[in-house]
Amino acid sequence: MEDSHSVQKLNRKLCYCGHITVLKTSWTEDNPGRRFWGCRFYGKVDACDFFDCADPTVHDRYKLVINGQLRKKNEAEKEKEKLSKTLRMYQFFLLRWLFCMLQLG
Ligand SMILES: [Zn+2]
Repeated sequence: MEDSHSVQKLNRKLCYCGHITVLKTSWTEDNPGRRFWGCRFYGKVDACDFFDCADPTVHDRYKLVINGQLRKKNEAEKEKEKLSKTLRMYQFFLLRWLFCMLQLG
């Protein structure tokens, strides 16, 4: 007798819910960039926790490099958002100043 989640369908496994699994990518500190097959409803109510690695384990050296690059990317995104807020603030004050000048002139 065959277990439902080990049944191959179109060369892909079924999760505990009985759906064809989807290929996802982990971005955790321990498995950055590592792909795995998981439930298509992962993160939603009543989804199962099926998990099957598609890639080999991530070498410690690559973990350091990838996690370092991810940190730099996140810091750059935060800086970009901070600069965007500052720009919007200056635009707002410039428009107010122009409006005041037009009313005085
Ligand atoms: Zn499932």
